[in-house]
Amino acid sequence: MSRLRRRTQAPKPIYNSQPPPTLILLDSDSDSDSDYNGVCCEECGSGENGAELLLCDDCDRGYHLYCLKPILAKVPKGDWSCPLCSASNNVKKFPLIQTKIVDFFRIQKPSDEVQTSISDTRKRKKRSSSLLTPKKKSRKLLPFNPTEDHERRLEQMASLATALMATGAQFSNELTYVAGMAPRSANRAALEKGGMQVMSREDAETLNLCKKMMEKGEWPPLLVVFDPKEGFTVEADKSIKDLTIITEYVGDVDYLQNRENDDGDSMMTLLSADTPSQSLVVCPDKRSNIARFINGINNYTPEGRKKQNLKCVRYDLGGECKVLLIANRDIRKGERLYYDYNGLEHEYPTEHFV
Ligand SMILES: [Zn+2]
Ligand SMILES: [Zn+2]
Repeated sequence: MSRLRRRTQAPKPIYNSQPPPTLILLDSDSDSDSDYNGVCCEECGSGENGAELLLCDDCDRGYHLYCLKPILAKVPKGDWSCPLCSASNNVKKFPLIQTKIVDFFRIQKPSDEVQTSISDTRKRKKRSSSLLTPKKKSRKLLPFNPTEDHERRLEQMASLATALMATGAQFSNELTYVAGMAPRSANRAALEKGGMQVMSREDAETLNLCKKMMEKGEWPPLLVVFDPKEGFTVEADKSIKDLTIITEYVGDVDYLQNRENDDGDSMMTLLSADTPSQSLVVCPDKRSNIARFINGINNYTPEGRKKQNLKCVRYDLGGECKVLLIANRDIRKGERLYYDYNGLEHEYPTEHFV
């Protein structure tokens, strides 16, 4: 049933049929109104007017009747879910059916899957032994290491399909160029103000290996989860080593000036040109991969710095700009991923700058 704030501490009365209108119990004694139970309104942040503070039956968060959009004139009868929880309840899960997932992501048919995954494992073993060399010397990127369990990988993919469906976006694993937006020829790393670091040949091979693995359905060990507060967000489903490629940040490429009035918070800088009209952004609203569901945070705040476990790096690859999300420390299984939204690219390897 719907509750006002005050009700949380009291044991739930047992009703024979319909609960009595809740407000009757609560609109008196307004002096102990504030700071009771520490519940505040999620919209305005205030705990005042407790008699008007409605509690969510799912998460116990509070909302003033008048702070809700649309405003509620009175306490609703029956259970009430806050906007965040009702959004979460409305997330339609993508079916956990291999053929559907394979179709959704256009995964290659696994004709020689056994063979290739064995050779991949060998490759990975070789690479991980090279990790024994002192860390300072090696700043080489690592390929992600997929979850071995096939069923679990399907669950990871289904979680992304769920999120893409819910946000009305199609899956794409590369930058897309659409008529009416910036053409591919506009993506020129040479235009970057101050120059852009060139991806080393070895790192480019690693990135290519990641793409090849994904085409076969061997994905980074990531799970998209719905958090009522943060929306869709991404968790590591396995431990991930520092310097591991998580994903390329993809979507439609457009001129920044076409998007200056967009409130799309998941737009990503692709090219920051000397001439502002040549600057480009990646817009993942229509086509994208898991990158758009990873949270960007402000790493200037102490809290942001602590949370951040990915860095966002732009590279010149074959003359084109690319944005990669890369682990910037070892990440534990179950950790939520955050990248530095205000990333200082120039902190990263500079030896390859053009
Ligand atoms: Zn409020
Ligand atoms: Zn709720």
